[in-house]
This record gives sequence, C-alpha cells and structure tokens, in this order.
Amino acid sequence: MKAAVIGSGIAGIAAALRLRSKGYDVTVFEAADKPGGKLAELQLRNYRFDMGPSLFTLPNLVDELFDLFPQYKSDFSYQKLDVICNYFWKDGHKLRAHKNTDSFAKSIESEFGVSHKKVLDYLAKSKANYNATAPIFMEQSLHKISTWLSAKIWKPLLSISKLNLTTTLHEVNQKSFNEQHVVQLFNRYATYNGSSPFLTPGIMQVIPHLEYNLGAFFPKKGMRSIVSSLIDLAKAQGVEIRCNERVKKIIVCGGKARGVELEKEVFAADVVVSNSDVFYTHRDLLKGSKPKEVERSSSAVIFYWGVKKKFPELDVHNIFFSKNYEEEFIELFDEKKVPTDPTIYIHVSSKVNPEDSPNYGENWFVMVNTPADQNHDWPHEVAQLRAKVLSKLKNILKVDLEGFIEVEHVNTPKDIEQRTGSYKGALYGTSSNSQFAAFLRHPNFSTDIKNLYHCGGSAHPGGGIPLCLNSAKIVASLIPDVR
Ligand SMILES: Cc1cc2nc3c(=O)[nH]c(=O)nc-3n(C[C@H](O)[C@H](O)[C@H](O)COP(=O)(O)OP(=O)(O)OC[C@H]3O[C@@H](n4cnc5c(N)ncnc54)[C@H](O)[C@@H]3O)c2cc1C
Repeated sequence: MKAAVIGSGIAGIAAALRLRSKGYDVTVFEAADKPGGKLAELQLRNYRFDMGPSLFTLPNLVDELFDLFPQYKSDFSYQKLDVICNYFWKDGHKLRAHKNTDSFAKSIESEFGVSHKKVLDYLAKSKANYNATAPIFMEQSLHKISTWLSAKIWKPLLSISKLNLTTTLHEVNQKSFNEQHVVQLFNRYATYNGSSPFLTPGIMQVIPHLEYNLGAFFPKKGMRSIVSSLIDLAKAQGVEIRCNERVKKIIVCGGKARGVELEKEVFAADVVVSNSDVFYTHRDLLKGSKPKEVERSSSAVIFYWGVKKKFPELDVHNIFFSKNYEEEFIELFDEKKVPTDPTIYIHVSSKVNPEDSPNYGENWFVMVNTPADQNHDWPHEVAQLRAKVLSKLKNILKVDLEGFIEVEHVNTPKDIEQRTGSYKGALYGTSSNSQFAAFLRHPNFSTDIKNLYHCGGSAHPGGGIPLCLNSAKIVASLIPDVR
C-alpha cells in the first residue's frame, strides 16, 4: 500500500514515519529545495541560525518517533535549559526564570512582592488543567464520534467551570497575581499559539506547565537537528523524500483520494496526507473546494543578526517587554498593525551551542510579533522596527548594537508565506482567540473525501512543534495498519 505525503514540515515527516511503521511505502513531496518547512536554518558567514522555532518543549514526542524503529541508532540529543527565560522590563525590573519552580516562584516574590505560594498554586493548576484537557483537546480527533463516546472525555467536561473556558487568560492572570509585571509575564503564553491574552480563553493557563513543570529543552545541534535527524531516520527506513516537487493537485475519484499530480507525473497512492496549509490544500490542491476563512494566528518579523560581541547578561531565551501590554495586543489583533512598542524576543543559540557563532560573537534571532500579512508595507515596517528594536536595546542593555552587527538577514510574514506555504505567514495556523477555536480548526481527516488526511499547524490540534507532532499521531491513528 502506498502513501503520499504533501509537505515535509515536522508534521509531514512525523506522519511519514508513523505510516512507514504501519507498513506503507511512503513518498514525501516537498515544494522547497530542502525538507523541514519552518524548521529551516540559515548560515551567514560563520554564524548559524535556526530560522523558525527556538523553544523546544515535550521532546518525548520526538523520541517516540525514534522509538518506532528501535533498531535505528540516532545521535539526536537535547538538554534541559537551566534558565527558561530571562525577562527585562522598561522600568528596570529583571527576572531570570530558573527551571526549578521553587527558585522561580521565590524570585518572583523578591522582585515583585507576589507570594511564591501564589506562583506555585498557579503552576499546580496549570498542571492539573493540562492533564485534564490534553488527552481530549491535543491528543485525539475532536471530529470523531468515538472521541465523544469515550468515558475519559466526560470527567474534564463536567469540571468545565474550573477550566476557565469562559474567562480570558488575562482575567485569570489578573485574578491570580494582581501585579502587572507578573500578569504580563504569564499573559505572554498566549503568543505561544499566536493569540491574544485578552481574547484567548483562560484554559491557555496550561501552557506554562510545559515549560515550568516539564521543562524547556534545546537540541545539542540546534532546532534544525530535530527535523534533519528525523529525515535521516525516515530515509534509513525507506521513506522517499522528493524535494523541488510541488504537488499541484490531489487526485480524487469516486469520492476517494487516489494520488497526487506533480508537474510532470501522476503519482498513485492509497492514502494521501496533506501537510500543506489547509487553506492552500483546499484552494489549490482540491480545486473547486472552498477554503474556510478562519482568523489566522500572529506572524512575525525576525532579524537574524551576527553580533560581534558577547552579552553575559543574556541567556538562550530573552524577552524585552513592551510598556503597555494591553495596547500592544489591541494593535496586534484588533487593528492588525505592527505594535508601536513591541515586546522583543531574542534567542541566542550560541549560548548553548558555541559552534553557532565565532568565539568573539553571538547569533541573535530577534523576533517581534506582527499580525498575519494583510498586504502591509513590509520594507517600511522593517525599517521602523529595526530602529525601535535598536533604540530599546540601547536603553536597557546600555549598548549601541548597530556597530556590532556584522551579518544580517530579515524575514517578514510575506517571506514566511513564500518559504513555507503558510497562509498569510501565520506562525501557528489559525488563532486561538475564542473559546471555540479548538472546534473551528480543520479536522485531521477530510469529511467528504475518503483516504485524505490533514496534519500540521493549520489542522487540529494547532501550531507549534508538539501540537504538529500530535496532529501526525492522530492522522496515523485514523489510518489502518497494513503490516
Ligand atoms: C519564526 C517562527 C518561530 C516559531 N517559534 C516556535 C517555537 O519556538 N516553538 C514551537 O513549537 N513552534 C514555533 N513555531 C511554529 C512551528 O514552527 C510550526 O507550528 C511548525 O513547524 C509547523 O509545521 P508543519 O508540519 O505545519 O509544516 P511547515 O513547517 O509549515 O511546512 C509545510 C511544508 O509543506 C510544504 N508544502 C506546502 N504546500 C506544498 C505542495 N503543494 N507541494 C509540496 N510541498 C508543499 C512547504 O514547502 C513546507 O516545507 C514558530 C514558527 C516560526 C515561523
């Protein structure tokens, strides 16, 4: 039996591996010249950059893929970070969020006067809600009757009032801490799925559980090594990965997916899995099928800077907060404009992998959240943002960075869309700006075409590496084993 996978993002590769382990002959078609989708890398002279994700949580979901083929030996490895994130506020407050939850809670108490017990209670609730909801909302299809008939779904649903589905994340954080720096810190987790804390439901309180209770990790050879190691595994298992091969159409006959059409070839398959953004899968690959317009998650402008200086005050992950966080999110999601005073995220992988930069410097990935593309004037936005970022860093780090930038590259939402086929350059597929978001996301299977499945950030359960890996797992669970 043959399976065709359209796209080699993390979910496409994971689906290919899972189908291979179920006995399928798998071929992955990738439009770009290299596989891996958003987990791309960039080499600028002697600086290496991961272009997309930088935060690695739930690494066990990657380990599971290697475990499918126990005879295969991989050198993929990762480490737990001691400092989860290093926070800077404009008023001079600073916080190093240590992986040890007690130390983290105590540093919040000493910096902001919020009792450490409140922080520990919040993280305990985050854990309890995660454990109650993950098996339903993140690990199985929401669109199969069998999910709703299962007994394990009812316990959490009966405790729905405790899950904060009808309040916003900001309201939960405000009630929990009532201290603006701490509220801002926990509000930022809404951006982990490209949403606003003022719109996304309070259940998103589950996200800090991943970092603070389970850990933030980083691969020994950078984020790109997650996909490159999985691609090596896939090839060793006989999965064929064909780059520079854009799928033009999914062939449907008698209500069933029968294969894919390429530039010069028709490829017959018994099962088709699309890892292409669901919007484009419908608009371009299933001609005539109308894509649903669901609000997209945020996107970003990213500066990749090779900086010829070391900054001991920075860690692997660093956040420089905006002054007025409510205004920032109103601009981002209601007005769909680049925030006037954006929060800046700086990721420096050379802090853990020194070979990513020359020994006199650091590789800075500098990201600012923006709306998904609405035909903004990106060259103009980039020029303005660059000046703002440099000025803010000058005030906080007391350094004129401009003179230290020796190599530079920029990605805008338009570039992200062109490079990865993500509709409007959204980082995480559709947004989670409503309590119904989980139900609005595209199912992992086609409701009208048999043998057609969907995985990746724009399908259920959503964007981000762990959820994409879960989407591939759900897809594989819906496809019969043919061994
Ligand atoms: C800047 C940035 C920062 C991020 N930060 C994080 C983070 O810190 N942590 C985290 O977990 N997540 C993060 N994310 C989100 C994460 O990267 C994505 O959710 C995830 O990688 C998406 O994977 P995917 O499987 O949906 O496929 P994608 O990575 O979107 O890849 C899809 C692939 O399909 C190919 N394709 C599309 N159409 C066709 C076609 N017709 N024929 C052939 N091939 C096709 C594309 O070329 C592409 O290679 C970030 C994303 C970005 C861009």
